[in-house]
Amino acid sequence: MSTSVLTETSPKNSVSDLALFGGQPAFAEKLHVGRPNVGDRERLMARLNDMLDRRWLTNDGPFVQEFERKICEFVGVRHCLAMCNATVALEIATRALDLQGEVIVPSFTFIATASSQSWLGITPVFCDVDSKTHNLDPAKVEKMITPRTTGIIGVHVWGRPCDIDGLTEVARRHKLKLMFDAAHAFGCSYKGRLLGAFGEAEVYSFHATKFLNTFEGGAVVTNNDELAHKMRLMKNFGFAGYDNVIHPGTNGKMCEASAAMGLTGLESFDSFVDTNFRNYKQYHAELDPIPGVKVIDYDPKERSNFQYIVAEIDETKTGITRDELIDLLWAENVLARRYFYPGIHRMEAYKPYFPHAGLLLPETEKLSARVTVLPTGTSVDSNQIHEICALIKFASEHGSEIRKRRAGKL
Ligand SMILES: *Cc1c(COP(=O)(O)O)cnc(C)c1O
Repeated sequence: MSTSVLTETSPKNSVSDLALFGGQPAFAEKLHVGRPNVGDRERLMARLNDMLDRRWLTNDGPFVQEFERKICEFVGVRHCLAMCNATVALEIATRALDLQGEVIVPSFTFIATASSQSWLGITPVFCDVDSKTHNLDPAKVEKMITPRTTGIIGVHVWGRPCDIDGLTEVARRHKLKLMFDAAHAFGCSYKGRLLGAFGEAEVYSFHATKFLNTFEGGAVVTNNDELAHKMRLMKNFGFAGYDNVIHPGTNGKMCEASAAMGLTGLESFDSFVDTNFRNYKQYHAELDPIPGVKVIDYDPKERSNFQYIVAEIDETKTGITRDELIDLLWAENVLARRYFYPGIHRMEAYKPYFPHAGLLLPETEKLSARVTVLPTGTSVDSNQIHEICALIKFASEHGSEIRKRRAGKL
């Protein structure tokens, strides 16, 4: 496990003590964002043994069925289709909804929201987000609609819910299908109801870095019986029985080992949330006093998994840019991340096709230059968080000196 060596190396007394300038790193081992939450190992191993005894490793096995049932009960939704990952789940849901032409998505999201569309020959149309919520702005969505638009994919970024009512109204007015990428949002609510039951369908990711993980994995949840039936066929090559393919399909199945991990993680749901919440409170308490460092809030009236500690860096107040801060932290072995830099519309694979997209995405561009995601979860302890916050405080107090030194002027 990672051990902090804060007693020997900290606090940093001068800028020269920073690892960026040759000092000893604050942490002997790297601290990652999204280090996996692991539930009770013995329960997991017992399940894996059962699985091996049964020799039923995949193809809608008992663990996958149990996992799907538990998710339905937990979320309060009629259907859960467990899949191999959220990207394939998005693709399958997109095909099942018969989306074509153009689909409106945020650019401020993980690449898979858009690539699931372009992979199917659909043009992702990038829409700007609200600077406060980091989520799609329904008024702006409405301005992006063309005769080719067939759907909208809202992303509950950081697990904070989209303006679902606003998006639903826009979708209704223009007869568009509305789906949600809920990759971050397992266990998070909107107006008191858990996310998963909104729109035509919602898609969770159970990737290793997400709140609940199945190593790799994802699921589509929906209350639409017909859609669920279609997706169940699609995720299993279209098989309706032995030797009987009745629908176009692919291989989107979740395997038993993944479901075993998911079931085990679900049993630790409350303790994962408690740990994340405690970390969130500590980051707030320690970073709030620092001018120019704003930790985003989770609405206390909603449920949240608190999986992401997101700080917006205002360089006019800190004297140091987000990117400079990230370099400084990495040198200290704090591997803070720039999600979702630079915005999908500026990624090499998309930029040439959307050369002017930035003109319509001012909030996305601002956010992607300011956001820093910090390590949290069950593998980070409060001493480490204290040390990370002390580094950020030190950086903001010595911003101009750090900057000059980096430019070789000191
Ligand atoms: C992680 C993530 C995905 C992709 O999930 P996978 O399970 O890795 O395919 C999609 N959308 C968002 C917003 C994500 O964060």
